[in-house]
Amino acid sequence: MNIHEYQAKSILKQYGVAIQEGIVADTADGSVAAAKQLQAETGTSWVVVKAQIHAGGRGKGKIEGTEQRGVALAKTLDDVKTISTNLLGGTLVTIQTGPAGKKVNKVLVAQDVYYPGASATKEFYMSILLDRQTSQNVIVYSTEGGMDIEEVAHSTPHLIHKEQINPSVGLQGFQARKIAFGLGLSGQAHKEMVKFVTSLYTAYVKIDAAMFEINPVLKTSDDKIIAVDAKVNLDENALYRHANLAAFRDIAEEDPTEVEAAEHNLNYVKLDGNVGCMVNGAGLAMATMDIIKLSGGDPANFLDVGGTANATTVEAGFRIILKDPNVKAILINIFGGIVRCDRVAQGVVDAYTNMGNITVPIIVRLQGTNAVEAKKLIDDSGLKVFSAITLEEAANLVKSSLS
Ligand code: GDP
Ligand code: MN
Repeated sequence: MNIHEYQAKSILKQYGVAIQEGIVADTADGSVAAAKQLQAETGTSWVVVKAQIHAGGRGKGKIEGTEQRGVALAKTLDDVKTISTNLLGGTLVTIQTGPAGKKVNKVLVAQDVYYPGASATKEFYMSILLDRQTSQNVIVYSTEGGMDIEEVAHSTPHLIHKEQINPSVGLQGFQARKIAFGLGLSGQAHKEMVKFVTSLYTAYVKIDAAMFEINPVLKTSDDKIIAVDAKVNLDENALYRHANLAAFRDIAEEDPTEVEAAEHNLNYVKLDGNVGCMVNGAGLAMATMDIIKLSGGDPANFLDVGGTANATTVEAGFRIILKDPNVKAILINIFGGIVRCDRVAQGVVDAYTNMGNITVPIIVRLQGTNAVEAKKLIDDSGLKVFSAITLEEAANLVKSSLS
């Protein structure tokens, strides 16, 4: 689960990681009040206004139809008001959002930490994630922080360093010092970096994070090391033990159809094709998508209904698939192992009748326990539902329903 920068920074601060201080706002007047409060509390004169969306690249991205960047420096309270007005309610398009962009509902007003200018500060890159190859955590760091880390990784990969952390012993002191040296730091800044990376690693482990990306980590003109940006991804399977973090979920950032599917315990991913599919089991769903391709169609979605293919889940599945106007046919592919095919077939018939407004042909392929009874149930229903027992039959039915 992704969370916003302002939420991520609040977590980091709690674990003793130094951050660029800021206050979140959802109106332009709220931003001005936040700026005044920051001026009083931190002594900053300028502030930065930062769009809060679940995507990076904000500094270079623009609000659709304008020249307003997603992160902008404000030298006066009037600037704060103008920038916030431009950002709030606008659609920010960045290299990570895709052309559709993301709506900005909140801004983070933060202290300017770059004073007195670029020559006195230094931007680093740091991330922590799980290295699945070594089964260890890995800290990735580089002197080339800022906004172009993808370009650095591409053209100068030797400038990106990795430190493997054995999860059973944690980050060792010598490793934290090695990272600080690797970033070219000495004296006070070196000490600060050791403290920074140590508390950052602790936070990563304690909150069951799946990924931390801090870009930039800033060395200020007075040798403090602070997190200026924070992208945090939390392990959803561990959220049950972090109720406070689960509350950080922002449904406005998620695809509404995928949210509805999750409420029904369905695994749904929207795709661009014309044949909807409903399957029990992720592997079978992948194979079904191949079958659809082979029969000349294009899958409109991935939908795994899991082990509970009954009338309620099938109906929820129909509703979700049919929200997509491109769908010209639906292929239901169920393997009856624990779940009996005749019960699924009855579920399909009930859901179809219940909805009363399905116009696209439905092809149902049921294999396994009570498959023959299931086929009979569907054939006798008198509905525009076609049954098949083999995948080949199902593919042919899809093909003829599309032509
Ligand atoms: P991203 O573009 O989504 O990764 O957003 P960041 O939070 O990384 O901000 C983008 C850029 O804004 C940073 O790389 C900095 O160059 C700039 N920036 C962030 N905070 C400040 C600040 O306090 N003062 C100034 N002058 N620039 C800042
Ligand atoms: Mn960044």
